[in-house]
Amino acid sequence: MNIPLIDLHLQYESIKKDIDAAIESVIGDAAFIGGKRVAEFEEAFARFCGARHCVGVGNGTDALYIVLKNLGIGAGDEVITAANTFIATAEAVTLTGARVVFVDCENDTYTIDPQQAEKAITERTKAVIPVHLYGHPASMMELSKIAKEHSLHLIEDAAQAHGSEINGNRAGSLSSAACFSFYPGKNLGAYGDAGAIVTNDDELATRCRMFANHGRVQKYEHQFEGSNSRLDGLQAAILKAKLRYLEEWTERRHAAACLYNELLQDTALVTPVEKTGVRHVYHLYVVRMKERDRVQRILKEKGVSTGIHYPIALPNLQAYQYLGHRPEDFPVANQFCEEILSLPMFPEITRSQIEYVCSTIKEALWC
Ligand SMILES: *Cc1c(COP(=O)(O)O)cnc(C)c1O
Repeated sequence: MNIPLIDLHLQYESIKKDIDAAIESVIGDAAFIGGKRVAEFEEAFARFCGARHCVGVGNGTDALYIVLKNLGIGAGDEVITAANTFIATAEAVTLTGARVVFVDCENDTYTIDPQQAEKAITERTKAVIPVHLYGHPASMMELSKIAKEHSLHLIEDAAQAHGSEINGNRAGSLSSAACFSFYPGKNLGAYGDAGAIVTNDDELATRCRMFANHGRVQKYEHQFEGSNSRLDGLQAAILKAKLRYLEEWTERRHAAACLYNELLQDTALVTPVEKTGVRHVYHLYVVRMKERDRVQRILKEKGVSTGIHYPIALPNLQAYQYLGHRPEDFPVANQFCEEILSLPMFPEITRSQIEYVCSTIKEALWC
């Protein structure tokens, strides 16, 4: 059996008619930039998140950068985020001229540890960016309280968490602004790069929208310098067609995770937690184990693709040597780097595929 980590082709096959019609209609109208499909998708995605505004942008990294920049964050400021995330979260901070401050993660959810975040606050701190890593929301109640007490902006990196919830509130409605990526492999994926900013703040939404389109009010009338980071018509039409299926796909991811949990419960593996009141959307299904490398190698030999998200904590990367951290500074994140393994996870994964993955893992653990 050959089981990929994710299978984008199967998804396309299942909704080919919708996607092909969406693409054809955009090309037919030559509505490549802006236009009604972008507005329609933005409205639908804002509603999906339970927020007032959605501003489509070029990708998730730009979404983070544009929000930070338009909250007035820049040189001399500090922004706190998790040591264990994709580099984009930190890059967006550095791009504004601010300094990124890494903190360790919780030992069960993999998301930023609120106590560590609070300890890292200085006079220069302007914002905290929790990452809803793998699809499990960060501890937003605790973080909101800390942000309020210290007058900090709270910005969700929701690139892996479309539709995740805490006590019925969706990612995108839990902070000043949330940043989404629609990179093809994400839970809601475009057919190219795309991203969005979701917020309840009218003024921030307007500013971000202008910034992403050269700071313009209307053609050739520019109020300030911005950039070019627009969601294009083709991607918006594809995303709108796919958004209708997202709930169903999320339910299927959830069911797949439950089956994995059940089949792996009598092993030494640590399976993902789902905190009380939380809806985990399983962008990735990540387990922990000793001897991870050996198990991953055996899985590969037996046709099962897996991943490691992420193999090196950001502070240990060459890119962040200038911060002068030692591995001991982030004990939890660093230990997890050695033990985590992402198993195949996509809405179309079958029971027999999951059974095969789990029995192969069990064999590997016994030998
Ligand atoms: C994918 C991702 C991003 C960046 O999104 P792009 O659309 O690829 O720029 C940012 N943060 C996290 C946690 C991600 O997984």
